[in-house]
Amino acid sequence: MAINIPKIENPKDFFLFHDGLNNISFDLDFCITKKYRCRANCHMCYIQNDWVDDENFYKYVPTSVPTGDQLKKLFEIFDYYDVVSTIDDLKYLKDNHPDLFNFYREYGERFSISSMTDNALFRHVEVIENDIKAKGITEISFSERFMKRVPIERILVALDRIQKKIQIQKIKIIIMPDCDNTESIRQLSDWAQQCGVELQKHLEFVAGIEAKLDQKDQYLLDLEDAKKHESTVYTEENGEIYPIHSEVLFLMNDGFYSELKSATSAHRSVPFASIHDFDPVEFLPKVLAGKIKDYGRYVHQIKNKTNPYFLYFEYVTNKIRVNENFNFIPYMLLNTRSRYYQQLIASGKMVETGKGLLNAKMSPADPIVSLIDISR
Ligand code: SF4
Repeated sequence: MAINIPKIENPKDFFLFHDGLNNISFDLDFCITKKYRCRANCHMCYIQNDWVDDENFYKYVPTSVPTGDQLKKLFEIFDYYDVVSTIDDLKYLKDNHPDLFNFYREYGERFSISSMTDNALFRHVEVIENDIKAKGITEISFSERFMKRVPIERILVALDRIQKKIQIQKIKIIIMPDCDNTESIRQLSDWAQQCGVELQKHLEFVAGIEAKLDQKDQYLLDLEDAKKHESTVYTEENGEIYPIHSEVLFLMNDGFYSELKSATSAHRSVPFASIHDFDPVEFLPKVLAGKIKDYGRYVHQIKNKTNPYFLYFEYVTNKIRVNENFNFIPYMLLNTRSRYYQQLIASGKMVETGKGLLNAKMSPADPIVSLIDISR
């Protein structure tokens, strides 16, 4: 889910109000395989260098689908989310792992379908028409480069076929500096409007993108709005991206990751938590520790040490401490309207105090994070 959040001015406030436990407040992205692998081969794919190669991918393909206690645990976790999306390449599963694909035939209605970008549109049309009855489609993204290459009529026919089966919630257009697709974008916007589908424009993750857009049709592309949507990702000159983990968690079969690159690469990191010992309260400090560990890696990798993102990642890594034995979650750390927040209360695990959530059996309040230097 993309959200508009302000630029980082004060790292402490940004962490407390816009990062914190925000990544459990929205969607949960799920794969039945233990690592993410997509064969759509999109030109703009920012994780294309992270894939596990085909010869080794079998190591991450489970030998059976979740059943019994594992399935029960999975659905218990899903119950803490409004939206659980599959990001599996369903066409690949259908062709190569029919047993895993059957899991989605059976339980498709528990999932939305997400992560459909460019070529993935055409890979999914027949699966959606013939095999899987999902809740909806969270989002389909089109890069301008793709729209330049593929006739808009072909895209609209595919969208029509999908929309007849399940509701597409959002279309996202990735604005790129070196393309001019005014007419295609106009037609796609008209289609979205007629079908009641939200349309958003985002900027490509490239360094200095805003300065490169002068020649664009500012009005048609709604560039002022588009700029706001990209405020949680920092891109270095070498193209490497460093996202703030404020939007989504990734559950790869039974392991949780904070970032898609870790959920994809064989070497980048191990899961920060597992479903097998999932407890909704004990999970929370693990979520925070997982993102702080990733930020610590970013601090070592980012070359430009003066940009606000570097300073933010450095601040969180050095100044925020996670308290595993907490009994209090300050209200600003976890979206009070999120299902996770509501479920903690409904299950009786925590109670609302007006200042946050408290485990009523323990006192005094011991917060889930402490700030080593609160003056900054
Ligand atoms: S659909 Fe997404 S993950 Fe798959 S290749 Fe395209 S951009 Fe990459």
